[in-house]
Amino acid sequence: MTGSNRKAGFQTRAIHFGFDPADHHRAVTPPIYMTSTYAFESVEEAESVAEAAGATYAREHNPTTAILEGRLAELEGGEACVAVASGMGAVGTLLLSLLSQGDAVVVHSTLYSNTFAMAHDGLPRFGIRVIPVDLSEPANLDGVLDGSVKLVYFETPVNPTAQILDIAAIAARAHAAGARVVVDSTFASPAVQRPLEHGADIVLHSLTKYINGHGDMLGGALIGDRETIARIRGTGLRYITGATLSPMAAFLVLRGLKTLKLRMDVHGANALAIARRLAADPKVAWVSYPFLESNPGYAAARRQMANGSAMMAFGLKAGFVGARRMMDGLEVISRAVSLGDAESLIMHPASLTYARRRTKPEAKLATGVGEDLVRLSVGLEDIEDLLADLEAGLARV
Ligand code: PLP
Repeated sequence: MTGSNRKAGFQTRAIHFGFDPADHHRAVTPPIYMTSTYAFESVEEAESVAEAAGATYAREHNPTTAILEGRLAELEGGEACVAVASGMGAVGTLLLSLLSQGDAVVVHSTLYSNTFAMAHDGLPRFGIRVIPVDLSEPANLDGVLDGSVKLVYFETPVNPTAQILDIAAIAARAHAAGARVVVDSTFASPAVQRPLEHGADIVLHSLTKYINGHGDMLGGALIGDRETIARIRGTGLRYITGATLSPMAAFLVLRGLKTLKLRMDVHGANALAIARRLAADPKVAWVSYPFLESNPGYAAARRQMANGSAMMAFGLKAGFVGARRMMDGLEVISRAVSLGDAESLIMHPASLTYARRRTKPEAKLATGVGEDLVRLSVGLEDIEDLLADLEAGLARV
């Protein structure tokens, strides 16, 4: 791709990998194949494609999506990728493909709220044992990993705490006991962190976030070895969840990918400036951001991440009430769930959870998430405007 034997850089591969205009009527931009099925010249041809698990139906195969899958696998350093309809589609498709009744899965004690619900409310209904472990100390795995534990599953950075877990240390212990390691790397993206290089077996993404980066679609992806991804596509995607990514969404992610690294550079620089500003503010009780030297995960973050990404959590001395007052004083930063967009987004999990309890009394905050925690996804706006907005919000507390 570089005209020599040199491997192309991340940015070049994010723009070009796995696409030759000559194969697509010379179109420079990947076409969107809007088709639900494929026609064959003969029954024999249909048979040979089916035999090779090739493209017979769009639930499992689409040419636009295939370009995206090849590119994501390449950028993460994996053999193969399967793209699905959302990040939660990826969680469900993965776990229901690889786990059976009687198996166990170790999860980190803090998880994205809906993955937390899948682990604690969903999987036990299917006879799958879920073992929550505080993986910030990898030695906590000792004595937990018996032969029934098939997977060790965690996010890093963790949603919503932005805590860092040491991928290599956890993978070494899991592998010694015969368990495979799944890392949800949504908070980082492959421009910042490639978990397979540190010993993970499977990487999970919500494409909805940084990788697409523009807040206009939902998608998910799983990257790993060829055999495992084929199994996930052929069972989970085909007949368990059927959570297929639309070709239009695949096109949008291919477009977003072209600027992923450029965006992550600015996201990371903006976030570090804001984390430092918050950490110095007398109204702020604590800040969790991977690339603050004071962070307990700083050393691991420097080993496994190119920058700190742009997700942070913080708490004010004025706690629950202070968080709400501060957020209502913001004008540039949007009060919104989701993350990884050009727009800065801020959310207060406790307020949303307590509101949900009015209709769903069992709604609870994930373990490790306090009432004061505010999660900030720092966007691509000018840093001076973001800092001024936060000043205005803090002035109301
Ligand atoms: N994993 C993490 C870490 C997330 O933050 C999210 C969504 O916020 C998901 C998975 C689920 O992704 P989606 O919203 O695309 O279903």
